[in-house]
Amino acid sequence: MASHDFAIIGGGIVGLSAGLALGRRFPNAKILVLEKEACWAQHQSGHNSGIIHSGIYYKPGSLKARFAREGNRAMVEFCNEHGIPHEVCGKVIVATEQKELPLLENLYARGLENRVNVVKISPPAVREIEPHVRCLAGLKVSTTGIVDYAQVCRKYAELIQEQGGSLQLCQKVEKIIDAGPEKIIRTQRGEFRARFLINCGGLHSDRLARLGGVDPKAKIVPFRGEYYQLVPDRRFLVKHLIYPVPDPAFPFLGVHFTRMIDGAIHAGPNAVLSFKREGYRKSDFNFLDFAEVLTFGGFWKLARKHMSVGWKEIVRSFSKAAFVRSLQRIIPEVQSEDLIPAQSGVRAQALMEDGRLIDDFLILHGRQAIHVCNAPSPAATASLEIGKAIAVEVPEIGFARTVSFATADTAHL
Ligand SMILES: Cc1cc2nc3c(=O)[nH]c(=O)nc-3n(C[C@H](O)[C@H](O)[C@H](O)COP(=O)(O)OP(=O)(O)OC[C@H]3O[C@@H](n4cnc5c(N)ncnc54)[C@H](O)[C@@H]3O)c2cc1C
Repeated sequence: MASHDFAIIGGGIVGLSAGLALGRRFPNAKILVLEKEACWAQHQSGHNSGIIHSGIYYKPGSLKARFAREGNRAMVEFCNEHGIPHEVCGKVIVATEQKELPLLENLYARGLENRVNVVKISPPAVREIEPHVRCLAGLKVSTTGIVDYAQVCRKYAELIQEQGGSLQLCQKVEKIIDAGPEKIIRTQRGEFRARFLINCGGLHSDRLARLGGVDPKAKIVPFRGEYYQLVPDRRFLVKHLIYPVPDPAFPFLGVHFTRMIDGAIHAGPNAVLSFKREGYRKSDFNFLDFAEVLTFGGFWKLARKHMSVGWKEIVRSFSKAAFVRSLQRIIPEVQSEDLIPAQSGVRAQALMEDGRLIDDFLILHGRQAIHVCNAPSPAATASLEIGKAIAVEVPEIGFARTVSFATADTAHL
């Protein structure tokens, strides 16, 4: 059984980026990536909106704010360097009702605080960019872009391999044993040894943390994001990226219009509780996943607090008419027959026992281990920065250095 310096669980964008960064920091280290699926980016990293976020939304000083802004630049640079198709097309965020105007104002102030390139624009100026939008006021963010993150992941994997890393697909980690100076990582197909473990398991990251002896005091709750796409002859309704003003009580951005890098126009995603962690269809159900949510006190506290929003999301998930009405608030011309269902994604969102959704990235430390326990959007944008942060935080050879990596949220866990 070969021994490795670092074993990374998870071949999504965060795990692969960690592998890349570790290989750059420790060129002689033996790096192993274990992924349970047969290809990279089979879950969140391959089922998302493909936005290179600017960093406007996030609480100033948070990891999300820092890593998104710097990650945006790094991602664009990476795509340029490796010839990955992308476009910095900018986006508009629009208020369509009076009550959203103060929220838009707050978002503008937050953007400035986060040093994002954002300007206020009038409705006629919005229509110069997006002729079919109806709104009362808008913001223009010029650094937002689009890319296919699955393609980015494949490039990360290729580079890890070039650095000498070992990439193992179809290896589902089932057990982690602390064996003194090493960890033994057992999959359904074999055993691996490593001196340091990095858990980037996305939708399963909380379970993997527990397997590794760390209680994140939070549970991953899967929220499915469902999309429609515009039929080709109605794509003219959207030029770039059009977002509503998000509800500040939630970490989701509200259904929006996104031009994908392949030219398709997606509308969505909503945010509806999934009955399976990797449940991409409404009918997907897994007894263990569902029972875990229902027996978690934090879920009921969240449900009580946001009952009406949760109910509206369920209605919007089952009723195309309700989904279309949300979109018509931004583009009144959109009609039900313009939209066909598109592939959905499932967000891994960590929820605390007190019913609060963890807003920031959550990165915890165990003995000779780092566990990434909350890496929702904009973690794809921020992946290169998250990877770098992990590589900086692992101890030097010999693992003598004490690791301490507080996140905004570790404090209140
Ligand atoms: C609908 C939606 C829209 C989004 N839009 C955007 C966007 O526009 N821009 C943006 O920046 N971010 C966006 N995000 C967020 C972004 O996609 C995620 O933050 C990011 O992909 C998280 O990457 P990850 O590597 O942590 O997780 P994942 O991509 O889920 O990877 C985790 C990997 O771990 C593997 N794994 C799990 N358990 C095991 C095990 N036991 N053994 C081995 N392997 C295991 C899984 O198979 C998986 O491949 C969106 C997410 C969703 C769902």
